[in-house]
Amino acid sequence: MAEQFNLRGSGMTSQRARDRLVVSLQEQGIVSQRVLSAMRSTPRHIFIDEALAHGAYENNALPIGYNQTISQPYIVAKMTEILLGDKPLHKVLEVGTGSGYQTAILAQLVGKVFSVERIKPLQDRAKIRLQALQLTNVQLLHSDGGMGLKDRAPFDAILVTAAPDVVPSELIEQLAIGGTLVIPVGGNQSQQLKKIVKKSANHCETTIVEAVNFVPLLSGVIS
Ligand code: SAH
Repeated sequence: MAEQFNLRGSGMTSQRARDRLVVSLQEQGIVSQRVLSAMRSTPRHIFIDEALAHGAYENNALPIGYNQTISQPYIVAKMTEILLGDKPLHKVLEVGTGSGYQTAILAQLVGKVFSVERIKPLQDRAKIRLQALQLTNVQLLHSDGGMGLKDRAPFDAILVTAAPDVVPSELIEQLAIGGTLVIPVGGNQSQQLKKIVKKSANHCETTIVEAVNFVPLLSGVIS
């Protein structure tokens, strides 16, 4: 399985390129050594079309087909750092598998990842990449994640990589008490990344992290 990918990379996709990316993430304020270490060792170039792979370790979002993008490395690092907090996460939901890169980072840092994607061909490609990296604590599901994943709830944390106009109440409901939701919210003119901590069954604490630019959270599935 791994043979179809050049996991180590070379030239623009080599370990040196990953090391440089990590230095730039630190310069941008990422401090979690666990996150930096996962990003140092994960070959982002295999999550991108070969024709674009030379740009894999620059801090850019890149197209992955179907009008979707792989998130920029800084935002993957930032969202993961916020999500991890200071206690171990056993069960995490990701909404928007996309390329599977964010999923791969998460899988190295938490117990188990459930990741949902509404576009089946993207999910299929992500699955092959995650298998090549031997990340077996991931379950990929083809569904509309705007409703969360009720039969696997509650989750210690939920990470959403596409932006709804308002936070779906289902996602809050499916968080464990003390759990964290990291989500971009707003239309494409002005989105904010929010950190929402569920303090009790009916009380959440919301922090605005920074302005972001994600593809929209859409409803329905594409097979
Ligand atoms: N973390 C991914 C980001 C991909 S872009 C990466 O770095 O590659 C966001 C993804 O969310 C897209 O693949 C899009 O199809 C998916 N998406 C949008 N709305 C969704 C929904 N309601 N349920 C599941 N996935 C959704």
